[in-house]
Amino acid sequence: MRRLWPRHVRSRMTLWYVLVLGVLLLAYAVVASSYLFFSLREQLDHDLLEDSERVEGRLENSPDGMVTLSSVHHGEDEPDMQRFVEVWSGDGRLLYHSPALRQRTLGAPPTAGPDHTAEDTPSTLRLSDGTRIRMTTSTHTMADRRVLLRVAHSEQGLWQELEEFGSVLLVALPLALILAGFGGFALARKALAPIDAMAHHAERISAERLNERLPIENPEDELGHLARAFNATLARLEAAFDQLRRFTADASHELRTPLTAIRSVGEVALQVPKSAAEYRDVIGSMLEETDRLTRLVDSLLTLSRADAGHIQVQRTDISLLGLAQEASSLVEVLAEEKQQRILVEGDPTLMVSGDRLILRQALVNLIDNAIKYSPAEAEILVRVAAGKDSQLIVEVVDQGPGVSQEHQSRIFDRFYRVDSARSREWGGAGLGLAIARWAVEIHGGQITVQSVEGQGSTFRVALLPTALKEERT
Ligand code: ADP
Repeated sequence: MRRLWPRHVRSRMTLWYVLVLGVLLLAYAVVASSYLFFSLREQLDHDLLEDSERVEGRLENSPDGMVTLSSVHHGEDEPDMQRFVEVWSGDGRLLYHSPALRQRTLGAPPTAGPDHTAEDTPSTLRLSDGTRIRMTTSTHTMADRRVLLRVAHSEQGLWQELEEFGSVLLVALPLALILAGFGGFALARKALAPIDAMAHHAERISAERLNERLPIENPEDELGHLARAFNATLARLEAAFDQLRRFTADASHELRTPLTAIRSVGEVALQVPKSAAEYRDVIGSMLEETDRLTRLVDSLLTLSRADAGHIQVQRTDISLLGLAQEASSLVEVLAEEKQQRILVEGDPTLMVSGDRLILRQALVNLIDNAIKYSPAEAEILVRVAAGKDSQLIVEVVDQGPGVSQEHQSRIFDRFYRVDSARSREWGGAGLGLAIARWAVEIHGGQITVQSVEGQGSTFRVALLPTALKEERT
Protein backbone atom coordinates (compact mmCIF):
# COMPACT_ATOMS: atom_id res chain seq x y z
CA MET A 1 0.00 0.00 0.00
CA ARG A 2 2.80 2.39 0.95
CA ARG A 3 4.43 1.69 -2.37
CA LEU A 4 1.26 2.63 -4.23
CA TRP A 5 1.00 5.93 -2.36
CA PRO A 6 2.69 8.59 -4.53
CA ARG A 7 6.07 9.91 -3.41
CA HIS A 8 5.66 13.48 -4.57
CA VAL A 9 3.53 15.99 -2.74
CA ARG A 10 2.05 17.25 -6.02
CA SER A 11 0.85 13.75 -6.92
CA ARG A 12 -0.51 13.23 -3.42
CA MET A 13 -2.31 16.57 -3.54
CA THR A 14 -3.79 15.69 -6.93
CA LEU A 15 -4.89 12.28 -5.70
CA TRP A 16 -6.58 13.78 -2.66
CA TYR A 17 -8.19 16.42 -4.81
CA VAL A 18 -9.56 13.84 -7.26
CA LEU A 19 -10.73 11.60 -4.40
CA VAL A 20 -12.58 14.39 -2.63
CA LEU A 21 -14.05 15.68 -5.87
CA GLY A 22 -15.08 12.09 -6.80
CA VAL A 23 -16.94 11.68 -3.51
CA LEU A 24 -18.63 15.05 -3.93
CA LEU A 25 -19.68 14.31 -7.52
CA LEU A 26 -20.98 10.90 -6.49
CA ALA A 27 -23.03 12.50 -3.73
CA TYR A 28 -24.28 15.03 -6.27
CA ALA A 29 -25.23 12.21 -8.68
CA VAL A 30 -27.17 10.39 -5.96
CA VAL A 31 -29.01 13.52 -4.85
CA ALA A 32 -29.74 14.67 -8.40
CA SER A 33 -31.00 11.21 -9.50
CA SER A 34 -33.22 10.91 -6.43
CA TYR A 35 -34.60 14.36 -7.03
CA LEU A 36 -35.27 13.53 -10.68
CA PHE A 37 -36.88 10.21 -9.73
CA PHE A 38 -39.21 11.72 -7.16
CA SER A 39 -40.24 14.65 -9.31
CA LEU A 40 -40.89 12.39 -12.33
CA ARG A 41 -42.95 10.09 -10.16
CA GLU A 42 -44.90 12.99 -8.73
CA GLN A 43 -45.70 14.06 -12.26
CA LEU A 44 -46.66 10.48 -13.13
CA ASP A 45 -48.96 10.25 -10.11
CA HIS A 46 -50.53 13.57 -10.95
CA ASP A 47 -51.21 12.45 -14.53
CA LEU A 48 -52.47 9.09 -13.24
CA LEU A 49 -55.02 10.64 -10.89
CA GLU A 50 -56.24 12.99 -13.59
CA ASP A 51 -56.48 10.11 -16.02
CA SER A 52 -58.33 8.01 -13.49
CA GLU A 53 -60.97 10.73 -13.17
CA ARG A 54 -61.27 10.92 -16.93
CA VAL A 55 -61.71 7.17 -17.25
CA GLU A 56 -64.32 7.24 -14.48
CA GLY A 57 -66.40 9.63 -16.55
CA ARG A 58 -66.20 7.38 -19.56
CA LEU A 59 -67.41 4.16 -17.94
CA GLU A 60 -70.60 2.84 -19.52
CA ASN A 61 -72.66 -0.29 -18.90
CA SER A 62 -72.95 -2.49 -21.94
CA PRO A 63 -76.02 -4.63 -22.61
CA ASP A 64 -74.19 -7.86 -21.82
CA GLY A 65 -73.64 -6.71 -18.24
CA MET A 66 -70.04 -5.78 -18.92
CA VAL A 67 -68.52 -2.29 -18.96
CA THR A 68 -67.08 -0.32 -21.83
CA LEU A 69 -65.25 2.94 -22.12
CA SER A 70 -67.04 5.50 -24.22
CA SER A 71 -64.70 7.24 -26.56
CA VAL A 72 -64.72 10.97 -26.37
CA HIS A 73 -62.53 11.41 -29.37
CA HIS A 74 -62.06 8.99 -32.11
CA GLY A 75 -59.32 6.52 -31.30
CA GLU A 76 -58.90 7.67 -27.76
CA ASP A 77 -60.00 4.37 -26.33
CA GLU A 78 -56.86 2.68 -25.18
CA PRO A 79 -54.62 4.48 -27.60
CA ASP A 80 -51.88 4.46 -25.08
CA MET A 81 -49.98 1.22 -24.61
CA GLN A 82 -48.60 2.63 -21.36
CA ARG A 83 -52.01 3.03 -19.72
CA PHE A 84 -53.97 0.06 -18.31
CA VAL A 85 -57.55 -0.03 -17.03
CA GLU A 86 -59.52 -2.73 -15.24
CA VAL A 87 -63.09 -2.60 -13.95
CA TRP A 88 -64.21 -5.15 -11.42
CA SER A 89 -67.69 -5.83 -10.08
CA GLY A 90 -68.18 -5.94 -6.36
CA ASP A 91 -68.42 -9.72 -6.46
CA GLY A 92 -65.05 -10.09 -8.14
CA ARG A 93 -66.01 -10.31 -11.80
CA LEU A 94 -63.77 -8.63 -14.36
CA LEU A 95 -66.06 -6.24 -16.26
CA TYR A 96 -63.45 -4.44 -18.33
CA HIS A 97 -59.86 -5.14 -19.24
CA SER A 98 -57.63 -2.92 -21.42
CA PRO A 99 -56.45 -4.64 -24.55
CA ALA A 100 -52.98 -3.28 -23.75
CA LEU A 101 -52.90 -5.55 -20.70
CA ARG A 102 -53.17 -8.66 -22.90
CA GLN A 103 -52.97 -11.68 -20.58
CA ARG A 104 -51.79 -9.69 -17.59
CA THR A 105 -53.97 -8.39 -14.76
CA LEU A 106 -53.63 -5.47 -12.41
CA GLY A 107 -53.69 -7.74 -9.38
CA ALA A 108 -56.06 -10.29 -7.90
CA PRO A 109 -59.87 -9.78 -7.96
CA PRO A 110 -61.02 -7.54 -5.12
CA THR A 111 -61.96 -9.57 -2.08
CA ALA A 112 -63.84 -7.00 -0.08
CA GLY A 113 -67.53 -6.55 -0.61
CA PRO A 114 -68.84 -3.89 -2.94
CA ASP A 115 -68.86 -1.36 -0.14
CA HIS A 116 -65.20 -1.53 0.50
CA THR A 117 -63.42 1.73 0.33
CA ALA A 118 -60.71 1.89 -2.22
CA GLU A 119 -57.78 4.11 -1.62
CA ASP A 120 -56.68 6.25 -4.47
CA THR A 121 -53.14 7.00 -3.45
CA PRO A 122 -51.04 5.56 -6.26
CA SER A 123 -48.80 2.62 -5.43
CA THR A 124 -46.09 0.81 -7.34
CA LEU A 125 -46.63 -2.77 -8.54
CA ARG A 126 -45.05 -5.19 -10.93
CA LEU A 127 -47.09 -6.95 -13.59
CA SER A 128 -46.60 -10.67 -14.18
CA ASP A 129 -44.03 -9.88 -16.92
CA GLY A 130 -42.06 -7.59 -14.65
CA THR A 131 -43.37 -4.26 -16.02
CA ARG A 132 -43.36 -1.68 -13.22
CA ILE A 133 -46.54 0.34 -12.94
CA ARG A 134 -48.12 3.02 -10.78
CA MET A 135 -51.71 2.18 -10.06
CA THR A 136 -54.65 3.92 -8.47
CA THR A 137 -57.85 2.24 -7.38
CA SER A 138 -61.25 3.86 -6.94
CA THR A 139 -64.85 2.77 -6.51
CA HIS A 140 -67.54 4.03 -8.75
CA THR A 141 -71.29 3.67 -8.83
CA MET A 142 -72.75 2.78 -12.24
CA ALA A 143 -76.53 2.75 -12.37
CA ASP A 144 -77.26 0.51 -9.38
CA ARG A 145 -74.01 -1.26 -8.90
CA ARG A 146 -70.70 -0.33 -7.48
CA VAL A 147 -67.61 -1.18 -9.47
CA LEU A 148 -63.96 -1.08 -8.68
CA LEU A 149 -61.83 0.86 -11.14
CA ARG A 150 -58.12 0.28 -11.44
CA VAL A 151 -56.10 2.65 -13.61
CA ALA A 152 -52.38 2.17 -14.02
CA HIS A 153 -49.57 3.87 -15.93
CA SER A 154 -46.36 2.15 -16.81
CA GLU A 155 -43.22 3.52 -15.12
CA GLN A 156 -41.20 2.69 -18.22
CA GLY A 157 -40.90 6.32 -19.32
CA LEU A 158 -39.73 7.33 -15.88
CA TRP A 159 -37.02 4.70 -15.76
CA GLN A 160 -35.98 5.48 -19.25
CA GLU A 161 -35.42 9.11 -18.34
CA LEU A 162 -33.53 8.08 -15.23
CA GLU A 163 -31.38 5.73 -17.27
CA GLU A 164 -30.58 8.49 -19.75
CA PHE A 165 -29.64 10.81 -16.92
CA GLY A 166 -27.53 8.01 -15.41
CA SER A 167 -25.68 7.41 -18.65
CA VAL A 168 -24.95 11.11 -19.02
CA LEU A 169 -23.52 11.09 -15.49
CA LEU A 170 -21.57 7.93 -16.21
CA VAL A 171 -19.75 9.68 -19.03
CA ALA A 172 -19.60 13.15 -17.52
CA LEU A 173 -18.34 12.23 -14.02
CA PRO A 174 -15.19 10.31 -15.03
CA LEU A 175 -14.50 12.96 -17.65
CA ALA A 176 -14.83 15.69 -15.03
CA LEU A 177 -12.55 13.72 -12.69
CA ILE A 178 -9.91 13.23 -15.38
CA LEU A 179 -9.99 16.92 -16.27
CA ALA A 180 -9.89 17.87 -12.57
CA GLY A 181 -6.94 15.51 -12.10
CA PHE A 182 -4.96 17.19 -14.88
CA GLY A 183 -5.97 20.64 -13.67
CA GLY A 184 -5.17 19.78 -10.05
CA PHE A 185 -1.79 18.35 -11.00
CA ALA A 186 -0.90 21.47 -13.01
CA LEU A 187 -2.02 23.71 -10.14
CA ALA A 188 -0.13 21.70 -7.52
CA ARG A 189 2.98 21.77 -9.68
CA LYS A 190 2.70 25.50 -10.12
CA ALA A 191 2.10 26.05 -6.40
CA LEU A 192 5.01 23.83 -5.38
CA ALA A 193 7.48 25.01 -8.01
CA PRO A 194 8.93 27.73 -5.73
CA ILE A 195 9.60 25.09 -3.05
CA ASP A 196 11.46 22.99 -5.62
CA ALA A 197 13.47 26.03 -6.63
CA MET A 198 14.20 26.76 -2.97
CA ALA A 199 15.34 23.18 -2.37
CA HIS A 200 17.71 23.34 -5.36
CA HIS A 201 19.06 26.65 -4.17
CA ALA A 202 19.48 25.35 -0.62
CA GLU A 203 21.30 22.25 -1.91
CA ARG A 204 23.95 24.48 -3.44
CA ILE A 205 24.63 26.19 -0.10
CA SER A 206 27.50 24.43 1.62
CA ALA A 207 29.72 25.23 4.59
CA GLU A 208 31.97 27.24 2.24
CA ARG A 209 29.07 29.24 0.80
CA LEU A 210 27.13 30.00 3.96
CA ASN A 211 26.96 33.66 2.98
CA GLU A 212 24.44 32.82 0.25
CA ARG A 213 20.76 33.29 0.94
CA LEU A 214 17.52 32.01 -0.57
CA PRO A 215 15.72 34.52 -2.78
CA ILE A 216 12.50 35.81 -1.20
CA GLU A 217 9.92 36.60 -3.85
CA ASN A 218 7.02 37.53 -1.63
CA PRO A 219 7.96 38.01 2.02
CA GLU A 220 4.27 38.07 3.05
CA ASP A 221 3.23 34.59 1.89
CA GLU A 222 3.97 31.18 3.41
CA LEU A 223 6.88 30.48 1.06
CA GLY A 224 8.38 33.86 1.86
CA HIS A 225 8.06 33.00 5.54
CA LEU A 226 9.79 29.65 4.96
CA ALA A 227 12.60 31.33 3.02
CA ARG A 228 13.02 33.96 5.74
CA ALA A 229 13.17 31.29 8.45
CA PHE A 230 15.71 29.32 6.40
CA ASN A 231 17.80 32.44 5.80
CA ALA A 232 17.75 33.27 9.50
CA THR A 233 19.02 29.75 10.26
CA LEU A 234 21.73 30.21 7.64
CA ALA A 235 22.74 33.51 9.23
CA ARG A 236 23.03 31.86 12.65
CA LEU A 237 24.99 28.99 11.12
CA GLU A 238 27.28 31.39 9.34
CA ALA A 239 27.93 33.30 12.55
CA ALA A 240 28.60 30.05 14.44
CA PHE A 241 30.96 28.83 11.70
CA ASP A 242 32.76 32.17 11.66
CA GLN A 243 33.14 32.09 15.42
CA LEU A 244 34.44 28.54 15.26
CA ARG A 245 36.92 29.41 12.52
CA ARG A 246 38.15 32.46 14.40
CA PHE A 247 38.40 30.45 17.60
CA THR A 248 40.39 27.68 15.92
CA ALA A 249 42.69 30.15 14.19
CA ASP A 250 43.27 32.16 17.37
CA ALA A 251 43.75 29.03 19.47
CA SER A 252 46.34 27.60 17.03
CA HIS A 253 48.11 30.92 16.95
CA GLU A 254 48.23 31.12 20.75
CA LEU A 255 49.41 27.52 21.04
CA ARG A 256 52.16 28.10 18.50
CA THR A 257 53.74 30.98 20.43
CA PRO A 258 54.85 29.04 23.55
CA LEU A 259 55.74 26.02 21.41
CA THR A 260 58.02 28.20 19.24
CA ALA A 261 59.54 29.69 22.38
CA ILE A 262 60.30 26.23 23.86
CA ARG A 263 61.79 25.10 20.58
CA SER A 264 64.03 28.13 20.09
CA VAL A 265 65.20 28.14 23.73
CA GLY A 266 66.12 24.44 23.30
CA GLU A 267 67.84 24.95 19.94
CA VAL A 268 69.89 27.90 21.18
CA ALA A 269 70.91 25.94 24.33
CA LEU A 270 72.11 23.04 22.22
CA GLN A 271 74.31 25.15 19.97
CA VAL A 272 77.11 25.76 22.49
CA PRO A 273 78.01 23.58 25.50
CA LYS A 274 76.88 25.16 28.76
CA SER A 275 77.37 24.79 32.46
CA ALA A 276 74.90 22.91 34.65
CA ALA A 277 73.54 26.19 36.05
CA GLU A 278 72.98 27.53 32.55
CA TYR A 279 71.15 24.36 31.52
CA ARG A 280 69.00 24.67 34.63
CA ASP A 281 68.08 28.20 33.51
CA VAL A 282 67.16 26.94 30.05
CA ILE A 283 65.03 24.15 31.50
CA GLY A 284 63.44 26.69 33.88
CA SER A 285 62.36 28.95 31.05
CA MET A 286 61.12 25.94 29.05
CA LEU A 287 58.97 24.91 32.04
CA GLU A 288 57.60 28.44 32.27
CA GLU A 289 56.48 28.22 28.65
CA THR A 290 55.02 24.78 29.36
CA ASP A 291 53.05 26.28 32.27
CA ARG A 292 51.69 28.95 29.98
CA LEU A 293 50.79 26.25 27.48
CA THR A 294 49.00 24.22 30.16
CA ARG A 295 47.04 27.25 31.33
CA LEU A 296 46.08 28.04 27.77
CA VAL A 297 44.95 24.48 27.05
CA ASP A 298 42.97 24.48 30.32
CA SER A 299 41.22 27.71 29.33
CA LEU A 300 40.47 26.40 25.85
CA LEU A 301 39.07 23.21 27.32
CA THR A 302 36.88 25.15 29.74
CA LEU A 303 35.49 27.29 26.93
CA SER A 304 34.89 24.45 24.52
CA ARG A 305 33.17 22.38 27.22
CA ALA A 306 31.12 25.44 28.13
CA ASP A 307 30.14 25.90 24.46
CA ALA A 308 29.12 22.28 24.20
CA GLY A 309 27.04 22.66 27.36
CA HIS A 310 28.95 19.86 29.04
CA ILE A 311 29.63 21.75 32.25
CA GLN A 312 27.06 21.06 34.91
CA VAL A 313 26.41 23.80 37.43
CA GLN A 314 26.43 22.30 40.93
CA ARG A 315 24.56 24.88 42.94
CA THR A 316 25.16 25.39 46.65
CA ASP A 317 24.65 28.36 48.95
CA ILE A 318 27.88 30.26 49.12
CA SER A 319 28.97 33.24 51.22
CA LEU A 320 30.07 35.77 48.65
CA LEU A 321 32.66 37.33 50.94
CA GLY A 322 34.07 33.85 51.74
CA LEU A 323 34.31 33.15 48.01
CA ALA A 324 36.14 36.44 47.36
CA GLN A 325 38.61 35.67 50.16
CA GLU A 326 39.21 32.20 48.80
CA ALA A 327 39.83 33.54 45.28
CA SER A 328 42.23 36.22 46.48
CA SER A 329 44.22 33.78 48.59
CA LEU A 330 44.72 31.62 45.46
CA VAL A 331 46.49 34.46 43.63
CA GLU A 332 48.02 36.20 46.65
CA VAL A 333 51.43 34.82 45.89
CA LEU A 334 51.40 36.65 42.53
CA ALA A 335 50.54 39.90 44.29
CA GLU A 336 53.33 39.35 46.79
CA GLU A 337 55.82 39.01 43.95
CA LYS A 338 54.86 42.56 42.93
CA GLN A 339 54.59 43.78 46.54
CA GLN A 340 50.91 44.47 45.98
CA ARG A 341 48.22 44.27 48.63
CA ILE A 342 44.83 42.67 48.14
CA LEU A 343 42.08 43.99 50.41
CA VAL A 344 38.88 41.94 50.64
CA GLU A 345 35.97 43.60 52.44
CA GLY A 346 32.18 43.53 52.64
CA ASP A 347 29.12 41.96 54.21
CA PRO A 348 29.76 38.32 55.28
CA THR A 349 26.03 37.50 55.41
CA LEU A 350 25.41 37.88 51.67
CA MET A 351 24.72 34.45 50.21
CA VAL A 352 24.57 33.42 46.61
CA SER A 353 23.38 30.16 45.05
CA GLY A 354 25.91 28.94 42.55
CA ASP A 355 28.70 26.61 41.58
CA ARG A 356 31.58 27.36 43.93
CA LEU A 357 34.37 26.39 41.52
CA ILE A 358 32.95 28.19 38.50
CA LEU A 359 32.23 31.44 40.38
CA ARG A 360 35.63 31.28 42.08
CA GLN A 361 37.30 30.94 38.67
CA ALA A 362 35.58 34.16 37.56
CA LEU A 363 36.86 36.06 40.61
CA VAL A 364 40.34 34.54 40.30
CA ASN A 365 40.54 35.75 36.69
CA LEU A 366 39.47 39.28 37.67
CA ILE A 367 41.89 39.53 40.61
CA ASP A 368 44.64 37.94 38.52
CA ASN A 369 44.13 40.64 35.85
CA ALA A 370 44.16 43.36 38.52
CA ILE A 371 47.52 42.03 39.76
CA LYS A 372 48.93 41.65 36.24
CA TYR A 373 47.95 45.09 35.00
CA SER A 374 48.52 47.11 38.22
CA PRO A 375 51.98 48.50 38.94
CA ALA A 376 54.14 47.15 41.76
CA GLU A 377 53.09 48.08 45.29
CA ALA A 378 49.61 48.93 44.14
CA GLU A 379 46.54 48.15 46.18
CA ILE A 380 43.75 45.94 44.88
CA LEU A 381 40.33 46.14 46.47
CA VAL A 382 37.78 43.32 46.34
CA ARG A 383 34.45 44.63 47.65
CA VAL A 384 31.30 42.59 48.37
CA ALA A 385 28.05 44.52 48.81
CA ALA A 386 24.31 44.48 48.18
CA GLY A 387 23.29 46.48 45.11
CA LYS A 388 19.95 47.73 43.87
CA ASP A 389 17.17 45.34 42.75
CA SER A 390 18.36 42.84 45.40
CA GLN A 391 21.50 42.15 43.41
CA LEU A 392 24.72 41.08 45.07
CA ILE A 393 27.80 42.83 43.84
CA VAL A 394 31.47 41.90 43.83
CA GLU A 395 33.79 44.61 42.61
CA VAL A 396 37.47 44.23 41.83
CA VAL A 397 39.06 47.68 41.88
CA ASP A 398 42.64 48.21 40.72
CA GLN A 399 45.04 51.06 40.11
CA GLY A 400 46.21 49.79 36.77
CA PRO A 401 46.33 51.55 33.38
CA GLY A 402 42.56 51.27 32.90
CA VAL A 403 40.76 50.27 29.73
CA SER A 404 39.84 52.93 27.21
CA GLN A 405 36.20 53.32 26.19
CA GLU A 406 36.72 51.83 22.72
CA HIS A 407 38.11 48.58 24.15
CA GLN A 408 35.67 48.20 27.05
CA SER A 409 32.97 46.45 25.02
CA ARG A 410 35.44 44.01 23.48
CA ILE A 411 37.71 42.91 26.29
CA PHE A 412 35.25 40.16 27.22
CA ASP A 413 35.57 38.63 23.72
CA ARG A 414 37.72 35.57 23.29
CA PHE A 415 41.38 36.23 22.49
CA TYR A 416 40.82 39.98 22.65
CA ARG A 417 43.73 41.89 24.16
CA VAL A 418 44.16 45.62 24.31
CA ASP A 419 47.89 45.42 23.90
CA SER A 420 48.80 41.93 22.72
CA ALA A 421 52.53 42.27 23.18
CA ARG A 422 52.28 43.55 26.73
CA SER A 423 49.60 41.21 27.95
CA ARG A 424 51.26 38.14 26.45
CA GLU A 425 54.33 39.14 28.34
CA TRP A 426 52.22 38.59 31.49
CA GLY A 427 51.00 35.28 30.29
CA GLY A 428 47.58 36.24 28.92
CA ALA A 429 45.99 34.86 25.79
CA GLY A 430 42.86 37.01 26.07
CA LEU A 431 40.65 34.23 27.46
CA GLY A 432 40.48 35.18 31.16
CA LEU A 433 37.61 37.68 30.86
CA ALA A 434 35.75 35.49 28.34
CA ILE A 435 35.75 32.68 30.90
CA ALA A 436 34.75 35.10 33.68
CA ARG A 437 31.83 36.37 31.61
CA TRP A 438 30.64 32.83 30.81
CA ALA A 439 30.92 31.85 34.52
CA VAL A 440 28.84 34.84 35.65
CA GLU A 441 26.27 34.55 32.87
CA ILE A 442 25.45 30.89 33.47
CA HIS A 443 24.53 32.00 37.00
CA GLY A 444 22.15 34.55 35.52
CA GLY A 445 24.43 37.45 36.44
CA GLN A 446 26.19 40.22 34.54
CA ILE A 447 29.75 41.37 34.37
CA THR A 448 30.70 44.95 33.45
CA VAL A 449 33.72 47.22 33.55
CA GLN A 450 34.05 50.85 34.51
CA SER A 451 37.33 52.44 33.79
CA VAL A 452 39.05 55.73 33.12
CA GLU A 453 42.26 55.33 31.22
CA GLY A 454 45.26 55.90 33.46
CA GLN A 455 43.21 55.77 36.65
CA GLY A 456 42.49 52.08 37.09
CA SER A 457 39.50 49.86 36.45
CA THR A 458 36.57 48.45 38.37
CA PHE A 459 35.24 45.08 37.23
CA ARG A 460 31.73 44.52 38.60
CA VAL A 461 29.96 41.19 38.93
CA ALA A 462 26.21 41.35 39.74
CA LEU A 463 24.50 38.16 40.94
CA LEU A 464 21.10 37.29 42.37
CA PRO A 465 20.87 36.26 46.05
CA THR A 466 19.90 32.66 46.93
CA ALA A 467 16.18 33.20 47.62
CA LEU A 468 15.49 35.41 44.62
CA LYS A 469 17.47 33.25 42.25
CA GLU A 470 15.35 30.23 43.16
CA GLU A 471 12.17 32.21 42.67
CA ARG A 472 13.23 33.45 39.25
CA THR A 473 14.50 30.15 37.88
P1 ADP B 1 44.52 38.24 29.35
O1 ADP B 1 44.70 36.81 29.64
O2 ADP B 1 45.25 38.72 28.16
O3 ADP B 1 44.64 39.11 30.53
P2 ADP B 1 41.73 38.76 29.58
O4 ADP B 1 40.61 38.20 28.83
O5 ADP B 1 41.80 38.47 31.03
O6 ADP B 1 43.04 38.31 28.84
O7 ADP B 1 41.76 40.30 29.36
C1 ADP B 1 41.57 40.83 28.06
C2 ADP B 1 42.25 42.18 27.94
O8 ADP B 1 41.59 43.14 28.76
C3 ADP B 1 43.66 42.15 28.43
O9 ADP B 1 44.52 41.81 27.40
C4 ADP B 1 43.88 43.56 28.86
O10 ADP B 1 44.30 44.35 27.79
C5 ADP B 1 42.51 44.05 29.31
N1 ADP B 1 42.38 43.97 30.78
C6 ADP B 1 41.84 42.99 31.51
N2 ADP B 1 41.86 43.29 32.83
C7 ADP B 1 42.41 44.50 32.93
C8 ADP B 1 42.71 45.35 34.04
N3 ADP B 1 42.44 45.02 35.28
N4 ADP B 1 43.29 46.54 33.77
C9 ADP B 1 43.59 46.90 32.51
N5 ADP B 1 43.34 46.15 31.41
C10 ADP B 1 42.78 44.96 31.63
